[in-house]
Parts: sequence; C-alpha cells; structure tokens
Amino acid sequence: MKITNSMSGKKEEFVPLKKGEVKIYACGVTVYDLSHIGHARQAIVYAMITDYLRYRGYNVTYVRNYTDVDDKIINKANQLGKNALEFSKEQIIETEKDMKDLHVTEADIKTKASEYIPQIIKFVDELIKKGHAYSTEKGDVYFSVKSFKDYGKLSHRKVEELRNGVRIELEEGKKDPVDFALWKSAKPGEIYWESPWGKGRPGWHIECSVMILNTLGETIDIHGGGRDLLFPHHENELAQSESLTDKPFAKYWSHCGLIKINGEKMSKSLGNSLSIREALNSYNYEVIKYVMLSKHYSSDIDIHDSDFQIADGHMYYFYSTIRDIQEFTKKYNGDGTAEILKDEIPNNIITKFIDAMDDDFNSAVVLSNLHVFFKYANNLIKTAGKTNKQIIANTLDKELKDIKSVYKILGLFEQDPNEFILKMKEKYLKKLNIDEKYIEEQIYKRTEAKKNKDYETADNIRSELAEKGIILNDTKDGTVWDIKALYNSN
Ligand SMILES: [Zn+2]
Repeated sequence: MKITNSMSGKKEEFVPLKKGEVKIYACGVTVYDLSHIGHARQAIVYAMITDYLRYRGYNVTYVRNYTDVDDKIINKANQLGKNALEFSKEQIIETEKDMKDLHVTEADIKTKASEYIPQIIKFVDELIKKGHAYSTEKGDVYFSVKSFKDYGKLSHRKVEELRNGVRIELEEGKKDPVDFALWKSAKPGEIYWESPWGKGRPGWHIECSVMILNTLGETIDIHGGGRDLLFPHHENELAQSESLTDKPFAKYWSHCGLIKINGEKMSKSLGNSLSIREALNSYNYEVIKYVMLSKHYSSDIDIHDSDFQIADGHMYYFYSTIRDIQEFTKKYNGDGTAEILKDEIPNNIITKFIDAMDDDFNSAVVLSNLHVFFKYANNLIKTAGKTNKQIIANTLDKELKDIKSVYKILGLFEQDPNEFILKMKEKYLKKLNIDEKYIEEQIYKRTEAKKNKDYETADNIRSELAEKGIILNDTKDGTVWDIKALYNSN
C-alpha cells in the first residue's frame, strides 16, 4: 500500500510503526460558524482512509479535534454576547449534526482544546525547562524557533527566509519574529485559565501536539489535515512535539486539497462559501460524497454549480441500475455464489477497488470504475437471451454484492434504490415545475391518440413534454417517463 508523504513529497510504501496497528490524527474544525464544504471534504477523506485501512485488516485509532478556544470564537461570542466556551459548545453540536447527516464515519476519539488545559500547561512548562520556549513579562509564552534545528523540514522552508518575510515590529517580549505563541496572556474580557505565567489561554498549534501525545502517544503513523494547515500549523506542531520528545512526531504527513467554488477560493466575504447544511438541503449526501471523492484527495477541487447536478445524474444512473439488477436477480433467483460469466468485470470488482485504493487511496479511479461496472450490468440486462438468464442473474447478483461490499468504504449505496430514485425525481419535477399527475395524464392521452392512429397528437404530446424536460420511453409494458437532465448521463 502506498501513501503520499508531504515530508518527502513522494509516494511511499505504507508500513505502520507497529504491525497491524495504525494511529491517525486529523486536525478538525475551529468551531465559530457552521462548517463548510471544505470541512466536509476533509472529514470524508480521513473517514475513507480510516475505513479502508480497517478493511485491509488494520486496527485503527482515529483522533480528530475541535478547536474550541481561538480568536475567531472569542470575537464571535463577544458579538453575540455569549460565553466563548458555551458558544463553541453550541457550534460543535451543529457541526456534529451536519457530519451525521453526511453519514461520515466518526473519529474514535474527539478532543477539544478546552479539555486539555492542564496537559497543555505541562507541555509548555516542559518546553521552557528544555530551553525551547520562554515566557515574557506580559505573561505570553513563545516557542523559540532557533532552538529547533529542523524547523522548516516539513514545509520545506528556510528559517532565514521566513525571518525576512515577517513584519519587523515584534510583539512585546518576543525575541525573534519567527517565534510563535504557545500561551497567550488574556486581554480584558477574554476567556482565561490560571497558569504559571498568569491568566491566559493556549495558542492554536499547541493543542494538537498535546492531544496527540495524550491520546495516541509520542509518534503516530499518519498526521492529516487540509493543505492550508501545512504551514505554519503543522510545521509548528512538529517543532513543539519533537522538541519535547526527541522522537519523530509522525511517520506520514498527509494533506488534503482545498476547495474552490467557481474558480475562486471559498470565502465568506466573496459570498461563495457553501456550508454543509446548504449543500445537504440541495443534494443527497451520497451525491456530495461523490463530488468530494471524484478527485484524488491531494488535489484541489474547483466546484462549479453544474458539478453537483452532473453527480446527481451519475448517482441516479447507478441507483437505477441497482434497482434493475435487483429486479432481474429476484426474478431469476440470481445467486452470486453459483456459476457466473467468465467476463473480466464481475470477477475483478474487488481487486480493482483494492488496486486503486492501495495506490494512495485513489478514489477518483475507484469512482470512474463504477461507470464501467454499471454499464456492463446494464448491457447484460438488455441483452439477456432466453437461454442464459440464470447465469446472468448469478453474475449480476455477484457484481452488485461485490460493489456494495467495497463501495461502502466510500459511503456509497447505503440507500434503498427506489427511495433514492423517487426523491431525485421529486426534486427535479419541482425544479421543472411540473407534477407527476400531469405527466401521467399526458401519457394516457398519448396512448389513446396512438390507439386512434392520431400520430400527430401523439408526437405533439411527446415533444411538448420533452420541452418541459421530461422524456418518454415506450417499453413492452407501456410508456414510462424520466427526467431528461438525469437520464443517461453516464
Ligand atoms: Zn492541528
């Protein structure tokens, strides 16, 4: 199995520190607002990696944090006239609700900065004792970057260049412009804890170092997070932890790409921020996952409005095929453990999945394979001759079981196909501003017209519906309708 390591910039063989066990930590959300789609992607990606490692037989412990003490939280809470911790607690409840609605595998341990204050104080105190940090008269504590000779090794930056790049005016008591805060003295009206350096609160980076040490130990297998955290957050975490323990902090550093919306960086001020809740109001959670996993996790995704609609079409096609497979296998008592066709596809679904996922969790390949698998299934159903229906039913049964058994790692195909299709149709009918009863009436009129050999009326009804976005298919069991925008988008 291979994994990209940001430290080396290369894809490396994945060998955990301890055979059969994986310790993984991913930096979570700073809870001062509803979580956005970028947070969703990161949570979906690390849940997928965790679930896949488990599928491959590893005993995985997955830890994620909530940053619940931070400038943004304090500012927002002050604006709302709320206590900062109460406010962040409310925000965590909202985030958990969104993640639950997205059906994302939860971390085994979810930590909050505010619950690790004594451990943070101890960690900072030990860094001071080891000469890696210093306190100021004002009550701040800074990490001394020049005390850690490897500083910059993760983000591949040179301290000298960083020093030239920062503002010259130093915060009171700070000895070097590149030093960063481990502990911040409290300003009036801010939340604080008592510490050996006076009233204050932790800086941002220290919480992850402390929570990792206290939940997983000195060295972990995989440290993950969004690529925007690589510098300075992860570089600083690494400096703090390795300075304290003199041991490697993480064996593999994994970074998830960022999300742009319509070509621009997502930001509240640009008005193009998409919250998880807004996305869920418009799209099924599996459609959202499809979009998030359709690119390799390390690439950025530039989401355009049409991407979700295209994914709607793909998922609709997949679920329609699943429904057809289920109907066919039921009708002919398909048994995937009995004789199946010797074709390449039904015999290799799981192998192809593992090949792609072993190659740095390549969900993009895994998803594009799905199109091939379902097209194959559709062709089998369409071309099923009289003689080989049993063997086709067996093949389809095996194919669907295999697909479901591995694609659940990506969180797909958990829903009842008929319900999924129905909901999708309802959504698009609403968009098209047309109701089902009207379509059924038109189909009835068209059938009557055809019976009376009035083909002109019949054709007019068909094209009128087509203009409204509804297509008709004449089958031997009668005429069925579908949504043009969703139909055959594979
Ligand atoms: Zn972190």
